[in-house]
Amino acid sequence: MNHDPDCIFCKIVEGKIPSKKAYEDPELLAFHDINPWAPVHVLIIPKEHLATHYDVRPEHDALLGRMLGLAPRLMRELGVVNGFRTLINTGPDGRQEVQHLHMHVMGGPRPWAKG
Ligand code: 5GP
Ligand code: ZN
Repeated sequence: MNHDPDCIFCKIVEGKIPSKKAYEDPELLAFHDINPWAPVHVLIIPKEHLATHYDVRPEHDALLGRMLGLAPRLMRELGVVNGFRTLINTGPDGRQEVQHLHMHVMGGPRPWAKG
């Protein structure tokens, strides 16, 4: 699987940087955001290094579908029953800070810090 040695999320996938994991399978990892905006804030990432949403190709369609399909299941497991937000930031104008594709999934009772 393609990993970037300088990528912080690849290091999380490889266990070189610790994270609070919420879900893992051979293709996907979900972990709690270090700086949460909401009571529950997880990031769902492909284990393969894809820098941005621009980098997906048709062969990634199933993977993207699985990321979206995982979100509600994970939220239920984490006790989020009153709705949640999903968000993918892409590129500079999308204010993407970490250059490894990730989907934010945020939920829990309001008020939230942001979003
Ligand atoms: P972006 O702005 O790229 O969409 O969001 C990156 C997210 O990654 C931010 O919400 C930030 O808090 C989170 N993040 C950055 N570094 C780490 C880390 O080392 N561990 C965890 N768990 N989250 C991180
Ligand atoms: Zn990466």
